[in-house]
Amino acid sequence: MFPIEKFKNLQTPFYYYDTTVLKKTLQTVTAEAGKYDYHIHYAVKANANHRVLSLIREAGLGADCVSGGEIQAALDAGFLSSKIVFAGVGKADWEINLGLDNDIFCFNAESIPELEVINELAAQKNKVARVALRINPEIDAHTHHYITTGTQENKFGINLDQLDKVLDKLANLLSLKLIGLHFHIGSQLTDMNPFIKLCERVNELQKQLDKRGVSLENINFGGGFGIDYEQPDDRLIPDFKKYFEIFHTHFSARSGQQIHFEPGRSVVGQCGSLITKVLYVKEGSFKKFVVLDAGFTELIRPALYDAHHKIENLSSEESTAIYDVVGPICESSDCFAKAIELNKTQRGDIIALRSAGAYGEIMASQYNCRKLPEAYFSDSI
Ligand SMILES: *Cc1c(COP(=O)(O)O)cnc(C)c1O
Repeated sequence: MFPIEKFKNLQTPFYYYDTTVLKKTLQTVTAEAGKYDYHIHYAVKANANHRVLSLIREAGLGADCVSGGEIQAALDAGFLSSKIVFAGVGKADWEINLGLDNDIFCFNAESIPELEVINELAAQKNKVARVALRINPEIDAHTHHYITTGTQENKFGINLDQLDKVLDKLANLLSLKLIGLHFHIGSQLTDMNPFIKLCERVNELQKQLDKRGVSLENINFGGGFGIDYEQPDDRLIPDFKKYFEIFHTHFSARSGQQIHFEPGRSVVGQCGSLITKVLYVKEGSFKKFVVLDAGFTELIRPALYDAHHKIENLSSEESTAIYDVVGPICESSDCFAKAIELNKTQRGDIIALRSAGAYGEIMASQYNCRKLPEAYFSDSI
């Protein structure tokens, strides 16, 4: 599956993207969403590599952006502005202006002060901005607390008990057009129950809105569908059939209503690996450390959220031994895994950290004055 002979000539560490996996994933998402006419906006924050974005755009997806830089990256990759949505709890004026100048599809707004600013900036341009309200549905996604976003203490969204006030306010903001509601309850959800609860919550909310005479053209359920980090090869393509079926079964869409999703991780997670070389195998007093030339500067998820990535030694078929796998960065948190089994490892072996296509390359930093990693693609390496 990995072209290891080619890897030997390349400077490690680097990201390797399997375009066959990405294309198959995209075919699956579009086919499964297409059954119900669902609209898919890829969450650019998961991976904004230009080639990755271009392949996603070619498959017909829209883009979900959370910054002006992401809007620009999406436009540069050829996404139509009519398929771009813009979310985020803190949008700067220049970012809002960039969205307005490009007539993006929708601003997902999170507070009254934000709505006031979008209204004012739109008025200055004699435009009417389409907005959706990001509602905090108060559902605990039971994922890591850094990636739970739908509970009340969270900084994201408008709480349910404030919705009336926001709707009253919107009536006076004449340069805004309310076109929908937006939700996003967390990330890396593998249990489908929170999504079922979300559907039920939105059904109730629509009934309340009927009483106020508010009907909305768009409902956006955000992203959050998880991938299998333990056994990537068994589930290279996430089960989008099951995921969309949940919404089709549990959400009562109004006639003519358009339904949107913003998957990030589930689209790009499994197509990417971080490829790195073993610098040293160091024998501690009671354990062995594999020291890699990649650290949290290239892949921060383990240090940041205790995330697990499957680690494979591509150079060794010997029997396994137990190692801690660490990076070279001068921080104790620079550890990829503790006490894992790897085929017996030595200096120079090539190691793959799997399922690193999402929140990998895009989160790389230059801490310790390191270089940002290169990216290579299976069809052009
Ligand atoms: C992060 C994010 C997403 C994508 O989440 P995934 O877990 O990668 O699918 C979608 N929508 C919003 C608003 C986000 O913040």
